[in-house]
Amino acid sequence: MINWILKKIVGSKNQRDLKRLRPTVERINQLEEEYRALSDDDLRAKTAAWKERLAKIDDLAEVARVLDEILPEAFAVVKNGARRLVGQTVSVVDHPVEWNMVHFDVQLIGGMVLHQGRIAEMATGEGKTLVATLPLYLNALTGRGAHLVTVNDYLARRDSEWMGALYRFLGLTIGCIQHDQTPDVRRAQYACDITYGTNSEFGFDYLRDNGMATSKAQQVQRGYHYAIVDEVDSILIDEARTPLIISGPATVSTHQYDQFKPLVEQLVRKQTLLCNRLVSDAEELFAAGKPDEAGQLLFKVKLGQPRNKGLLRMMEDAERRRALDKAELSYYSDAQKEALFDLKEELLFTMDERAQEADLSEQGREFLNPNEPDAFVLPDLMTAFADIDNRKDLSDAQKSEEKAKLQAVCDRQGERIHNISQLLRAYCLFEKDVQYVVEDNKVVIVDEYTGRKMTGRRWSDGLHQAVEAKEGVQIDRETQTLATITIQNYFRLYHKLAGMTGTAETEANEFHDIYKLDVNVIPTNRAVLRQDHNDRIYKTRREKYNAVIQEVKTAHGKGQPVLVGTVSVEASEMLSRLLRREGIPHSVLNARYHMQEADIVARAGQAGTVTIATNMAGRGTDIKLGPGVKEVGGLYVVGTERHESRRIDRQLRGRCARQGDPGTTRFYVSFEDDLMRNFGAADRMTKIMERFGMQEGEELEHSWLNRSVETAQKRVEQRNYMSRRRTLEFDDVMNKQREVVYGLRNEAIETEDPRRLVYEIMDEAVPVKVQGFVGADGAEPNYAGLLNWVNVTFPVGLTAERAEFEKKTAQEASDFLLQQIKASYELKCAHEEPLAVLNLERYIVLNAIDRLWQEHLYAMDALREAVYLRAYGQKDPLTEYKNEAFEMFVELMGNIKNEVLNNLFRSTSNLMAFEKFLASLPAHLLKQAQPTAGGAPEIARPSGSPATANAPREEKVAVAIPRKEAPKAGRNDPCPCGSGKKYKNCCGRTA
Ligand code: ADP
Ligand code: MG
Repeated sequence: MINWILKKIVGSKNQRDLKRLRPTVERINQLEEEYRALSDDDLRAKTAAWKERLAKIDDLAEVARVLDEILPEAFAVVKNGARRLVGQTVSVVDHPVEWNMVHFDVQLIGGMVLHQGRIAEMATGEGKTLVATLPLYLNALTGRGAHLVTVNDYLARRDSEWMGALYRFLGLTIGCIQHDQTPDVRRAQYACDITYGTNSEFGFDYLRDNGMATSKAQQVQRGYHYAIVDEVDSILIDEARTPLIISGPATVSTHQYDQFKPLVEQLVRKQTLLCNRLVSDAEELFAAGKPDEAGQLLFKVKLGQPRNKGLLRMMEDAERRRALDKAELSYYSDAQKEALFDLKEELLFTMDERAQEADLSEQGREFLNPNEPDAFVLPDLMTAFADIDNRKDLSDAQKSEEKAKLQAVCDRQGERIHNISQLLRAYCLFEKDVQYVVEDNKVVIVDEYTGRKMTGRRWSDGLHQAVEAKEGVQIDRETQTLATITIQNYFRLYHKLAGMTGTAETEANEFHDIYKLDVNVIPTNRAVLRQDHNDRIYKTRREKYNAVIQEVKTAHGKGQPVLVGTVSVEASEMLSRLLRREGIPHSVLNARYHMQEADIVARAGQAGTVTIATNMAGRGTDIKLGPGVKEVGGLYVVGTERHESRRIDRQLRGRCARQGDPGTTRFYVSFEDDLMRNFGAADRMTKIMERFGMQEGEELEHSWLNRSVETAQKRVEQRNYMSRRRTLEFDDVMNKQREVVYGLRNEAIETEDPRRLVYEIMDEAVPVKVQGFVGADGAEPNYAGLLNWVNVTFPVGLTAERAEFEKKTAQEASDFLLQQIKASYELKCAHEEPLAVLNLERYIVLNAIDRLWQEHLYAMDALREAVYLRAYGQKDPLTEYKNEAFEMFVELMGNIKNEVLNNLFRSTSNLMAFEKFLASLPAHLLKQAQPTAGGAPEIARPSGSPATANAPREEKVAVAIPRKEAPKAGRNDPCPCGSGKKYKNCCGRTA
């Protein structure tokens, strides 16, 4: 009831919003009719006139007012321009395309919604590409740049070339960012009135400009005025799980993968033999009618080698699977904890596929290092530290020395265990040509979700190196974060943001809360004829797939094209095999090759075609129906599994029945689907189905059951939203700091007078230093220390007599020193070449910022990990994080200033080296733009399948480690349960 009322209100708000725009639509159309009488040049002249008018206005509120005022005329100009292009041929990604579009009324409405900084939900095929031309034209008139963000490079190019015809006709310039462009080319694209590109290219350019460029000339972007995000749900919600990261090789690398590889290889071989034997024993037990005992053996194999081929083969059989499930269930009960431990000890190591972790058993440790079995166990630091503290024979200094020694041993041991564990993961959980491929002597990650190759991405935490060791390719150095930003925070930079997609409504809350974006649902140009059927539900996957194949066969038989949607590459390939067996020709798309796949998808509406695609494949490409297809019902969309998110299902349904075409959709679901198993839908349904008296092999459909599935989906959506929000709350802390640091950095880059900046820094830093020596409350002033600091940092040759610090207040001492230092600095500079000095001053500031900011990023990462392990009991990790982060930031800013002071005189002597550095810069930056170039910083998104990247870290159990003893307790510290294992590999229990 409440829901219904809410819907009424929300629905009518949308209608009110749209109704308000109606009169403007009339006005635009009226103006457009008038403009038909103008010559091409007269029409174009309007662009120039508006640009000139807007260029004179500085105040952004005034700019916005003028834009609102000229909107009807500007939209009319664009629409009229489109009309004039009709019949002309435009070259789009090397294909000739005839222009045949003039904006529909609903497209004008969509354009206004986008101009207002909202999200326009417009169904697939409604022509959003054309809609965007209206607000982009209008907002580009400001001369401040307007950006259109697409999901891949191919679409950026396609849309910019296609719509470019219209912009150019109207007298605007248009650019397009592509992955392989050099900085010069990029700069030229950004300088255009309108720029198309992908979210990651925009984001990485931001990071390079603000975090890496060392002069204004190297920066490529020019501000963040207005952006429209196409497929906004995909970019701001799905992609927002993983932040953008630019990383460079770490300065130190301690790995020993080479050394451990042969040992681990033997270990894995031994375990494989063991597991194969267990599988064949289990086979015999099944044959002998002892499924319970067989199940136990299979469970053991699952622990030791979850991807064992024999095990996987057995799992195809429902009875065997049940036996394994039963054994597993029994072992995970509390009473069986010890039995489980014993079982694990019978293996050499165990693998947790879900948590992606590997653990050595006693046997395994002995195998690796028979003489020193403890080499792979962490020392019990807590107890050892306590013992040291209790020793009476040691002074405090000796105590900390002892602790430091112990810590070093522990670190070495930890590194070793970590290396082994990563190697085990590499061997047992990562399969070549599934999770990764080897190309040009490099390990390239394959996204399991889309099948796309992720060139340049690396798994973190040494895993990538472990896989490199396994494949015998060159082991690249571990990387370190140089710059990072979340997609959310990149898009918040824009003065005005808008978005468009076929599916936004279900995520309206998130758009509103996080981006302040409201959603307007725009009606379609023609009535939608699509028929969405109830889900068909099966007990097992096998039955489900068989039914899908039969359905495809029937449709194919009558010439109806079918688009089969899957949730994973694996499922796509399985279906493809089944179709091949039936002799049905088809294409498979995994979002691997955007351009070719767009071509194939475009043809998916031809009579008799069958296309299998994951949900991202061919997104943004229009499926037009071939001749005779309308008569057989249009495109038939078959979903083979409900996705975690309702939005993705809607997206799939929306691929058919565009622009008043006929079309049908249906989803096939089984109780064995992940969604059903993990979120309780299966249980509820089993009950319903039992009531219906459903038998094995039967199918069922009813709208009640659909609702059950959707309840499960809502639950997952909510969970994912909370975790994205949490990620953002943490990044917000970092975001504020980033703004300050990038602000300072840009000041250093942009200022014509870096000396003023250096002096400002000096003015702030020197009094703090002086205060530290002579102003500390209650402490004896340390005049000698102050004098010493001055004389080692600045060449002022100050004597105690001349300084007379005792006679000065702290303030007077500071003033006196500042004057001395500046005088000495001016003297020094008088002998240098002015331009060189200027560059050097800039460099000193930048260098201090970059070096310390990178260290800070590293420390912030560690802090993030650490707050979960703190004794926060009732404390909120986020609050802890904020407080500590603030303290660290204050310290960082202080350190930056000190570093500038320290280097001011020191590096003048080294001008030669500095000039060499400058000379090397352009090439250096060029390499940054190409993530694969060896040695140069690489551009990557962090590791992890979407599921793990998305796993809320907040759910980790709080651990009571007294803060004093373990100020930076991390995942690599020993677990407080006393097992001696790393916390992250252990039980997660509190002490
Ligand atoms: P969307 O992004 O909304 O799914 P597209 O921008 O890809 O849709 O456009 C879908 C198809 O509709 C394209 O083939 C385009 O040529 C066509 N189209 C869009 N607007 C118009 C229009 N006003 N008149 C005629 N065809 C149009
Ligand atoms: Mg589109």
